[in-house]
Amino acid sequence: MAQRAQARKPEGTEDLLGAREAAWLAMRSAAGELFGRWGFSPVETPMMEQLDVFSRGLGQTTDVVRKEMFRAITQTNLTRALEEGSEAGLKARQRLALRPEGTAGFVRAAIEHDLVPQGGAPVKAWYAGSMFRGERVQRGRLREFHQIGAEVLGSDDPVLDAELIIMLMDFYAALGLPAEALRLRLNSMGCAECRPAYRELVRGYLLDHAGELCDECVARADTNPLRAFDCKNPGCARVMEDAPKITDHLCEDCAEAYAEVKRLLDVAGVPFEEAPTLVRGLDYYTRTVFEVEARGGVGSQSAIGGGGRYDGLVELMGGRPTPGIGFAVGFERTLLAAEALGAKLTFEGEPLVYVAAAGKDGAVRKAVFDLCLALRRAGMRAEADYQGRSLKSQFKQADKLGAVLCVVVGPEELERGEATLRNMASHEQTAATLGAIPETVRTALAEL
Ligand SMILES: [Zn+2]
Ligand SMILES: [Zn+2]
Repeated sequence: MAQRAQARKPEGTEDLLGAREAAWLAMRSAAGELFGRWGFSPVETPMMEQLDVFSRGLGQTTDVVRKEMFRAITQTNLTRALEEGSEAGLKARQRLALRPEGTAGFVRAAIEHDLVPQGGAPVKAWYAGSMFRGERVQRGRLREFHQIGAEVLGSDDPVLDAELIIMLMDFYAALGLPAEALRLRLNSMGCAECRPAYRELVRGYLLDHAGELCDECVARADTNPLRAFDCKNPGCARVMEDAPKITDHLCEDCAEAYAEVKRLLDVAGVPFEEAPTLVRGLDYYTRTVFEVEARGGVGSQSAIGGGGRYDGLVELMGGRPTPGIGFAVGFERTLLAAEALGAKLTFEGEPLVYVAAAGKDGAVRKAVFDLCLALRRAGMRAEADYQGRSLKSQFKQADKLGAVLCVVVGPEELERGEATLRNMASHEQTAATLGAIPETVRTALAEL
């Protein structure tokens, strides 16, 4: 008989199971705890947005928007577009995409719900979730990946730039990544006052060195000269090392803000490297930009997080002019770096109590069920055997699950109205009154 084809996960996606899911939970819970202390509240925005949100937020000309969007469409609209031979007849609200990053959606939500009233305190928010790219599947490039990010809207105070970066570095420390294995690269992108003149300088430099640059970089001279700094071509990278540095051409306000960020990082004891070639090719980036690399990574894959100030973005997306800054941390890359550095990301849940049955009669089975129920309802994590194992293999199972305590019930103990508490590390056993098991176990767990 023909076997039914086995379903497989979509290309470029991953099932988060076991240790991987524990690592994702560990990152999210570390973020919630740490970012909360810095005044950040969790937010969740939809995984899809109108395509416009991303083409305005990220720029029409970026690779992400041009070729890497993962589009979403209803069956009805797909049928219509296929019949008409184009999606031109669809309204903006019918053209959807899965989010490739978290900032654009958050900024859209902040505008829509007026989260930053004029003159109000800055809004600090963090998020964690799936992001999507529709690019070709290859090693290290997933179609669904995970990010944790934080955003601040409503102030251009360089104190916020410094605090956000310090919080990011503290986050890596909380995950167990040693500070000496990380490299924080920092730069300023200037502002609408000082960047246009700088951009012209770089344009001239590109044209002067056209013979040594790749075709794309030569073309960039006219479209977006600063993106030549991102070119992966080693020849271009060499040429760009000697290009004019933005930090030599900042206006007074930008130079002051940059100096203040560096001063505050020093105060906090956060080491950084100035990286004048670290330039983000999007127009809305202003002033502070940063990136964190982990030692031992390969090329661009070694960047495990980064961000920057985007004082122009809210206005670009249709809101009142509102300064903002944010970062995003890639889960998959951070996990790779953690593994390479020997840091273990695991989520420490509640300690486990295993309820073991010494015997198979109905009264014992009922007592096991009752004890699990009582422990769980009293707020503890309890597990039991469902396969009729012997007592010895129940202890083995308890060890395997990481149980710290066993509650053992058998026919004789039941007669006496007792159960036995077994410490799984020392194997020490004590008798306990059946009716008071939740309290006794709670006390025993506290004393472990
Ligand atoms: Zn400036
Ligand atoms: Zn190039």
